[in-house]
Order: sequence, then structure tokens, then C-alpha cells
Amino acid sequence: MNFEYQEKSLRELCESLLRDGTAGAVVGFGERSSVSGVAMPIIVKKPEDSGRLSWNSRCVPSLARYIADVKGVVAALVAKPCDARAAAALIVERQLDRKNIYIIGMECAGMTDSDGLTLAACAECSSRRAPVFDSEIRGAREVLSGYAAASAEGNSADRFRAEMDKCILCFSCRQACYGCYCETCFMDRGTPNWQPSKPDTGAKMIYHLGRAMHLAGRCVECGACENVCASGVNVRYLIKSVTDFIDAEYGYRAGMDTETLPALQTYSQDDGEPGFWGKDNE
Ligand code: SF4
Ligand code: SF4
Ligand code: SF4
Repeated sequence: MNFEYQEKSLRELCESLLRDGTAGAVVGFGERSSVSGVAMPIIVKKPEDSGRLSWNSRCVPSLARYIADVKGVVAALVAKPCDARAAAALIVERQLDRKNIYIIGMECAGMTDSDGLTLAACAECSSRRAPVFDSEIRGAREVLSGYAAASAEGNSADRFRAEMDKCILCFSCRQACYGCYCETCFMDRGTPNWQPSKPDTGAKMIYHLGRAMHLAGRCVECGACENVCASGVNVRYLIKSVTDFIDAEYGYRAGMDTETLPALQTYSQDDGEPGFWGKDNE
């Protein structure tokens, strides 16, 4: 992959954006963590610090969560296509003002895990270029190397239960997801108490099914929830099923532009009524 060329172009662009005042800060990737090897998010404010920005196969985290940390100036976002989709979705959901963000779309051929294997979400990704951007840096080279996650098939109850058994209810997946921005998550509300002191299977199912419903038609398919999970829980398949269903039924995928409202926020008399089992009730 041509990361060196893209990184050099990115640094030059960001230096110029910060110098001419187009942006007051750049939300991007910096040094790799000495523990995980993942490129850590940084916010650069001085043009002369643009050289601290990095672009490589370990720019894994979703940066959309960090835009809110920039206040009072335009934030330039170093945006993988999935990050650009997240930013666009935040604009549609009125969590972000379009004029306060400058999207640098990075062409992306996929990110890897610590063994150099392509992450599962990246192997399945269909957005190699940002659908929304102010500047774009192309030049990514397609080199898919293996497949990081063991990917079981189907939507069986056994598969779901097996994933729940691995979950320790740490909520890292929620914290990593651009779409989980409620000030108080339903899981943290006192009444009813969704989260018992001992996280049992019931609480885990409530959390994951509740989260899947809250992200229905809003998931930007970045894989951050799965990539961050230390227990190796592959719950993205659950949300992906809902995402694919909404796309098939309503022709909507989140974050593809900055105007179209999510499918579940609109109503038309022509809408199908598929019901839970995927069949029209007519
Ligand atoms: S999900 Fe797609 S856009 Fe996001 S890092 Fe992977 S390949 Fe790139
Ligand atoms: S799926 Fe993973 S990241 Fe999410 S709550 Fe369970 S253990 Fe934590
Ligand atoms: S649910 Fe997972 S894949 Fe979807 S937007 Fe959130 S972190 Fe990304």
C-alpha cells in the first residue's frame, strides 16, 4: 500500500490548512501505541506540528468521536471513508455543523490487526473512497492480506449465545462507536436497572440487542466496535444484518451524504411493511 505517499501529502495539506486558517485543528493519527501498535488519535493545532501526523495500516480507531473535542475552530478530520461516513451521519443527525468540519478523505484499502491481517470489517468494506470530503488524498493500493476475524455464518440463536458468552459487558464497543453519543446510555439509567451487579446473559442480550436497534440504519460499517473488543466478541454481524435489511427495504445506508435523513426518521405511504420475519404483511 502506498502509505508513504499519502502520509507526505497529508502532512503538506494539513500544514497548509493550519497556516492559512482554513482549519484551527486537525484530528488525525499520531504515534503508534507501544502496547497495541495502533496509531493513536491526536489533535494538531500548529502548522509546524503537521509532521506528527501519521498514515499507515494501523490507523484503526474511528476518529469521529474526537471531533467534539475541538471547540470554537474548524476541525479538519483525517477521514478514512468510514470516518467520513460517520462525520456525514453526525451532520445529518445535527450533532455536527457542516461548516465546522473540513473532511480530508483518505482513500483506504483496509487496515490490519497486529499480525498484519486485514480486519474483518475492512475485508467486507465497500467504501474505499470517502463519499463526502473537502479534499481527497488518493493513492491507496489494494493488498488484502488474510482475514483477521473468524467469521461464523448465519444468525442462529446458538451463534448469538456463543458471542454473548465471550462478552464481559465492558462497554468498550459503545465507547468506540461514533453513533453511541447519548449523554446517558439506556444501560446506565437507574430505572429500570438494565445492568445488574453481576453481568449475566440476560443483561448482555439486552445491551447488544438494544444497541443493535439504536443503530438500525445508522451503522457506518467501520468495525470499531469489533476492533476494540478485548474479548473477541464478533457482534458486528448482528448490526450488519439490520444495516443490510434497512438497505434492502428502504435503500438507505448511513453517511453517504449530508442531507438524507435515516430511514427510521422518515415515513412514506409506499414504505413496505416487512415485519420481523422479512415478509410483507399484506
Ligand atoms: S472499514 Fe473500509 S473505510 Fe474503514 S478502515 Fe476499513 S477499509 Fe477503510
Ligand atoms: S462486546 Fe466486547 S467490547 Fe462490547 S461490551 Fe462485550 S466485551 Fe466489551
Ligand atoms: S456499530 Fe460498530 S461498525 Fe457500526 S458504526 Fe458503530 S462501531 Fe462502527
